[in-house]
Amino acid sequence: MPNNKNVTLRVFQSPSKYIQGPTAIRDAPRYMKQLGDKAVLITDDIVHKIAGEALLEAITGFPQKSDSETVSTDVGKTDTAGPVAGTDTSAAGPPPSGASAPVDGSAAKEQAPTPSKPVFDVLRVQFRGQSSKEELERLKGIITEYGAKFIIAMGGGKTIDIGKAAADDLRLECCIMPTTASTDAPCSAVAVLYRPDGDFDRYVFTHRNPSLVIVDTGIVARAPARLLAAGMGDALATNIEAMRSRNSPNFGGGMPALISRAICDKCEEILFKFGKQAYEACKVNAMTPALEAVVEANTLLSGLGFESGGLAAAHAIHDGLTVLHELHHLLHGEKVAFGTICQLVLDCADTAELDRYLAFMLSIDLPVTFEMMGIEDVTEAELRKVAEIACAPGETIWNMDSVITPDVVYQAILGADAVGREYCTRVGFKQISRQVESRPRVSRTGTINLIKDLKDLKKTANGDNIFKQLADMKMSQVNDGTTSR
Ligand SMILES: [Zn+2]
Repeated sequence: MPNNKNVTLRVFQSPSKYIQGPTAIRDAPRYMKQLGDKAVLITDDIVHKIAGEALLEAITGFPQKSDSETVSTDVGKTDTAGPVAGTDTSAAGPPPSGASAPVDGSAAKEQAPTPSKPVFDVLRVQFRGQSSKEELERLKGIITEYGAKFIIAMGGGKTIDIGKAAADDLRLECCIMPTTASTDAPCSAVAVLYRPDGDFDRYVFTHRNPSLVIVDTGIVARAPARLLAAGMGDALATNIEAMRSRNSPNFGGGMPALISRAICDKCEEILFKFGKQAYEACKVNAMTPALEAVVEANTLLSGLGFESGGLAAAHAIHDGLTVLHELHHLLHGEKVAFGTICQLVLDCADTAELDRYLAFMLSIDLPVTFEMMGIEDVTEAELRKVAEIACAPGETIWNMDSVITPDVVYQAILGADAVGREYCTRVGFKQISRQVESRPRVSRTGTINLIKDLKDLKKTANGDNIFKQLADMKMSQVNDGTTSR
């Protein structure tokens, strides 16, 4: 039920600063140094080779080598002792003999090593791949012993999650550097923890949004285009969900401010104007202005939009869809896209409006039918289960102010598939099941780190119900009388 606690405060929350551009890694240190004089950089080894070394080079002015788990800014030494803090030095020595050539990062090619003092001290620590409580404790131990003033988390979803969680526990500033534009998570105050075996554990609602979010679009442009399209699927829901949540408290526990609505509008406008063009550019790893705009829409506008604008049926139906194991090969944004069609059907959107969304989704290869999602044989019982979960207590679907029941949602899901199939027939679009092409396309320039990110994303999507927990948090905040964090 929208705003049944009669909340009147408006709340808008966001990262303190957002930086984006094709050489953002090179420019990152001058923004990061505002967070303190001592940092820990968390990256997995593959991301570190592609982007982490370029960042360390920008910080220290020297080429970096990352064949050890922990590397300090003391480039005269390479710490091979494992994840032990205390390798910090404040002075930069000469480059080590045999140091690696500049890495294949966008910044590295343009930045010649210069003998200068590091912008700040930094200790690189390897992320071991699982955003688990155990890994969190390990990293927190290193960060504390090192005496870091802030944390830099660079990579895919799990690296971002663990960085946010560690910074929150230690009450440190946090800088997020995503290497894809596939979700709107980087700017938000939420992190996800998993069990060591990869199963979902819990959500962490951090006390504040990241201090800094830095996106190097030179890196993002080298990701598989499917990741960008999934990010657009997620971002496309932002405006229509915020429109239906305008009378409900947002994830900050307050009512949406006017700026939230403007952001959501702009997000959608950018996707329709530049989404297709950006998708094609990404396929050939071309960093064009359209791609730049869409990265911003996927990462910043959608992130601010969903957190301060609110969610509604599209994400609730996404959450319901996670019970279908046959859909676990789909990315979060791919399922949200179908949820968006369901919400439009629930809202009795006219055919022209539906066509507009369907045409856009198909133009970037987002699935719009059961068949395209790979569940053409889904049963009524399964779909009714999806609808039931979408209508669970606390779900964002209750932000809708129309009549909602599991049966109403079930009928809308059937209707969404029907309009999707009819549209494909009408425009002569040949449906291809996502099931048969569930392997991501690999970028020409060897972005194997992004394949790893995709695996992370799949796990994030499997069975998770982030927005239900967010909604629960929102309600408990409202019940507590607190409205922001
Ligand atoms: Zn989403």
